[in-house]
Amino acid sequence: MVKAIVGANWGDEGKGKITDLLAERSDVVVRFQGGANAGHTIINDYGRFALHILPSGTFYPHVTNIIGNGVALDVKKLVAELRSITDQGVPQPNLIVSERCQLLLPYHVLQDSYEEERLAGRAFGSTKSGIAPFYSDKYAKIGIQVCDLFDESRLRERLAAALDIKNVLFEHLYHKPRLELEPLVEELLSLRELLRPFVGDAAGFVHDALGQGKSILLEGQLGAMKDPDLGIVPMTTSSHTLAGFGCVGAAVPPTAIEAVIAVTKAYSSCVGAKSEPFISEVTGEAGDELRRRGGDRGEFGATTGRPRRVGWFDCVATRYGCMVQGATQVALTCLDVLGYLDQIPVCVGYEIDGQITDVFPTPPLLARAKPVFETLPGWRCDIRGETDYHKLPQATRDYVDFIEARVGIPVSIVSTGPKRHEIALR
Ligand code: GDP
Repeated sequence: MVKAIVGANWGDEGKGKITDLLAERSDVVVRFQGGANAGHTIINDYGRFALHILPSGTFYPHVTNIIGNGVALDVKKLVAELRSITDQGVPQPNLIVSERCQLLLPYHVLQDSYEEERLAGRAFGSTKSGIAPFYSDKYAKIGIQVCDLFDESRLRERLAAALDIKNVLFEHLYHKPRLELEPLVEELLSLRELLRPFVGDAAGFVHDALGQGKSILLEGQLGAMKDPDLGIVPMTTSSHTLAGFGCVGAAVPPTAIEAVIAVTKAYSSCVGAKSEPFISEVTGEAGDELRRRGGDRGEFGATTGRPRRVGWFDCVATRYGCMVQGATQVALTCLDVLGYLDQIPVCVGYEIDGQITDVFPTPPLLARAKPVFETLPGWRCDIRGETDYHKLPQATRDYVDFIEARVGIPVSIVSTGPKRHEIALR
C-alpha cells in the first residue's frame, strides 16, 4: 500500500518529521519531485539534520530510500549529503537512484542565477539551484537521464544538442561566457562513478515491492500552493507538488495510493519573494515573536537560512490545499508553538473587492484578497512533547476541532514538538 505525505500549504509544514515517524513502520520511502532546493528537518537519536535530496527514511536501516524519476538530481549535492550524514555516525542508507531520473547540471544553476539577475527587481526569489531551467529542459526534451551517463556517445550527442540552445541564451540574452562540451563530459563521467553504486530500476523495484505487499511512503517537497498548475502562479516551484504526481515521479500506479496525509502547521509560514501573496501574514512585533518561537529553532529556511514570513493559520488556503492534494487525513504540526498566546487569530475567509469568500481564488483575485480573522482562546501553557491527545488542554483541542471543521478533513496526527516521538494521535 502507498501513503503520500505532502504539504497542504507553502512548504516547510513539517513533512520531514512526519515522514521520519511513519518510515519507522514502512519498507520504502520515495522522493518523487523537486530537487535540493528545499529542506526537511529531522531530529532523531543521531542529531539534527536538514535533508535536501535524500528521502526521510534515510535513518532507518530497514528502509529502502528511492530518488524517483521525477526528482531533479544534483549528483554533487547528493554525494555531499550522503557524506555529511555518514560523517555524523549515520550508517550508509539503502538508496536507489532511478536510472530514469534526470540530472540537474551546472548550467542549470548558472542559468537560474543569470535569469534572476536579468529579472532584477522582478525576480521570483529563486533559490538559484537550477530547478526551473532543469524542468524547462525536461519538457523541452533536452534533459539528460542518469542512464545516459552509461552510454558515452549518446551522452555527448545529447549534451551537444542542449549546449547549442544554452549557448545562444547565455551569449545573447545573458551576455555570459559560452559553455564548452568536453569539460562538461569529463565532469559528468567522474560524477557517474560516484553515482554508480546507487543507480537502479526504481520503477521496477516499486512495482515488485507493491506485489509483495510492502508499504511505501511518497514524500512530497514543498506544498500545494507551490504547484505549477493549481498553486499561486507564477510564485510556484517548477515541479508538481501534489500527491497525484507521485504516480509519475515515483512510478506508482494511481490505484495504489490509499492514503494522502496533508501536513499543515498550526500557523502559517512561507519563504519566497515579498511579492508572493500570503494573505494571513503577521508582520511587526507579533510576526517577529511568532518567527522566533516557530519550528524548532525559529522559522528560518532549512536550505537557505532565509527568515520565513509567518502568519496565522489560513483555513481558506489549507482547505483548498487539502482538496487539490486529495487529502484523506491531516497532520497538524507545531501546535506547541502557539502556547504563548492569550488569543489566536485564525484566517477564516478572504475579502475580495468587498465580498467575503471562503473559496481559494485564482491568482489575479488572490492578489487583491484581505484576510478575515476569527479569534480563538489560547491555552497559555507548554504542551511540548505531549503524546496523549486527551491530556491536551480543552482550548488546544477546541483549536484543533475548529481547524478540522473548517478544513473538512480529519486531523489524525497532532505534532507537539520537533522530535520524532513528540506526537499525539487522535
Ligand atoms: P518540511 O520541509 O515540510 O519537512 O519542513 P521543515 O523541516 O522545513 O520545517 C519544519 C520545521 O518545524 C522544522 O524546524 C522542524 O524541526 C519543526 N517542527 C516540525 N514539527 C514540529 C512541532 O510539532 N513542533 C515544533 N516546535 N517544531 C516542529
